Amino acid sequence: MRSVYLDYAATTPTHPRVLEEMAPYFSDIFGNPSSIHSFGQKARSAVEAARGKVALLLGANPEEIVFTSGGTEADNFALEGVAFANENKGNHIITSKIEHHAITECVEFLAKRGFSITYLPVDQFGLVDPEDLKKAITDKTILVSIMQANNEIGTIEPIAEIAKVIRGMRDEGRGTKIYFHTDAVQTAAHIPVNVSELGVDLLSISGHKFYGPKGVGALYVKKGTRMVSFLHGGAQEKNRRASTENVPGLVGMGVACEIAAKEMAAEAFRETALRDKLIKGILERIPDVVLNGHPANRLPNNVSVSIKYVEGESILLNLDLMGIAASSGSACTSGSLEPSHVLLAIGLSHDVAHGSLRLTLGRQTTDEDINYVLETLPPIIEKLRKMSPLYKKGE
Ligand code: PLP
Repeated sequence: MRSVYLDYAATTPTHPRVLEEMAPYFSDIFGNPSSIHSFGQKARSAVEAARGKVALLLGANPEEIVFTSGGTEADNFALEGVAFANENKGNHIITSKIEHHAITECVEFLAKRGFSITYLPVDQFGLVDPEDLKKAITDKTILVSIMQANNEIGTIEPIAEIAKVIRGMRDEGRGTKIYFHTDAVQTAAHIPVNVSELGVDLLSISGHKFYGPKGVGALYVKKGTRMVSFLHGGAQEKNRRASTENVPGLVGMGVACEIAAKEMAAEAFRETALRDKLIKGILERIPDVVLNGHPANRLPNNVSVSIKYVEGESILLNLDLMGIAASSGSACTSGSLEPSHVLLAIGLSHDVAHGSLRLTLGRQTTDEDINYVLETLPPIIEKLRKMSPLYKKGE
């Protein structure tokens, strides 16, 4: 049977070149980057070279890159780091209703410690309206965090426009200094991400979402940003994040950034064509399906649909039996019976949200894979609908 992995938004396989370049750092070049001997210094130069590669991909200065253990830590560090360093200036944080749990759970944590949170709504496509943000800003606002692209529905947010609104408010003297963070975990190394063009102060990325290893990420912190450090201990990462660096992991993420810088444009072009073929094919072959997310402003690799009168979990199990790996909503929310907060925020009913299916494409996805999904999915849906009491009512 064919094996088709369509869950690249959950994680990606490590690129063979990444793996190859990481290997020596587990054995031959194993020194601690903080040691002054030559073993340590070889590891130190590898870490700094990786920092340079990440910075280059994001259009940042290397000293503005802080390494973390992944996207979650980068998000938590951004929010807690800014919130606790600036609470004397204000306690108001603005975010959106469709953020990843790495943001929503973190702002809930901050809410319990005296911060006041505003959740901006999104429209039917998942877009935040910069005008809503303008209205929500008060003179107590210290931080805004809006994701660059949503991991479930693939919508790309107008980050540069949002940054302009924030800058405008600063210029009007409303609010003291409002920091702007974006979660770029789903965009970095997939579409161009440039911190100055976006106008952000903080930006999170995660290595395993772009063919790097798992358990490494980075936070861009614009020079001059007031933050408290996240992990307390040694002086690593200029006292901002203690703990001995994950040298092989960081080397791997650096190489993955380097590969992306060269190949991202062609790959995004290729994936967009496959994505559009898959969306068109699903909508043509299966009745009562809605496309989730924005039709045009979406990630090149994201297909998210809600298939009425069926359960997402049942679709996943049946696809898995046919060798197709997909997701219903995000990997982090599946397993819970509550429909995804993202699908509810774009206005789907509980029933429709339960029938959601996310197929995310990547470097190994071929045209034959898409054909196989288009042959396999419709009969699965037909079979499930025949068994569904909901479908009989809907007919
Ligand atoms: N933010 C977004 C948008 C994500 O999609 C994910 C992972 O699914 C994360 C943050 C968390 O990243 P990590 O798995 O590296 O902690």
